[in-house]
Amino acid sequence: MTKRRLPKELEVSSPKPLAGSEAAGHYARIAQGRDPLTPEQRSENMRRIKSRNTKPELLVRRALHARGLRFRLHDRSLPGKPDIVLPKWRAVILVHGCFWHGHGCHMGVLPRTNAEFWTEKISANRRRDTVQAAQLHALGWRVAVVWQCALAGRNRKGIDDVANILIDWLYGRSEALSIEGNGQDL
Ligand SMILES: [Zn+2]
Repeated sequence: MTKRRLPKELEVSSPKPLAGSEAAGHYARIAQGRDPLTPEQRSENMRRIKSRNTKPELLVRRALHARGLRFRLHDRSLPGKPDIVLPKWRAVILVHGCFWHGHGCHMGVLPRTNAEFWTEKISANRRRDTVQAAQLHALGWRVAVVWQCALAGRNRKGIDDVANILIDWLYGRSEALSIEGNGQDL
């Protein structure tokens, strides 16, 4: 591993929308330069990220880690093995690929060939997502979905905005959150 230095995200974190809130204090502590992870933990985290994770999910994890949040990955004990589980917040974050999860955005358009096959396939995925979210809620977990189009493509918000929205949500009280790209034109 290279020597430790502050993650890039910290240099640009913008607590403005959160001023005066608990979240602003959170940012301030992190901005003091306190790395929340030991070198071993960070090394292990990076290793796992490289071996088996999608780019959007990796972006979200890195951003949350850089902001000092602790989470478990792909928790088998919960319905659907949620991507990111934050026990302290009783919250899970799911990072959804727009195509596979049937998002109605420009990245979720189905191919014209084998349309019937794809429609059925994606519909089944969506039904499963709905059931899993309901199960998680029933178990007392809050559920946030980050759509791929929020992080990639022409309508993206970018990782810093997405991370700020997620942290605001964690500090708030709403049960569910969906973050998608700006505008939904196809
Ligand atoms: Zn999308």
